[in-house]
Amino acid sequence: MPLEKTTQTTQKSRLQHILEKNSSGKGVTSEEYKEARKLILNPKYSDKKCCLCFNPMNKSIYDTELCPPHAFYELIRTK
Ligand SMILES: [Zn+2]
Repeated sequence: MPLEKTTQTTQKSRLQHILEKNSSGKGVTSEEYKEARKLILNPKYSDKKCCLCFNPMNKSIYDTELCPPHAFYELIRTK
């Protein structure tokens, strides 16, 4: 009997996925852009702080390590 493999699934949030796609230069569709914007405007916070903020009070959105303003900046900073 083969052992059940424990595949380590690192599930990325939808927002992180879109931000990564955007920063990779592939760009995002207007649908993805709208989706990301919605996710940033209704953020699910993690316990970590934003990796770009000097203010430790600024919490980051779920797994992006970015606060909402920085996540938004990341989204619009294309090309
Ligand atoms: Zn920030």
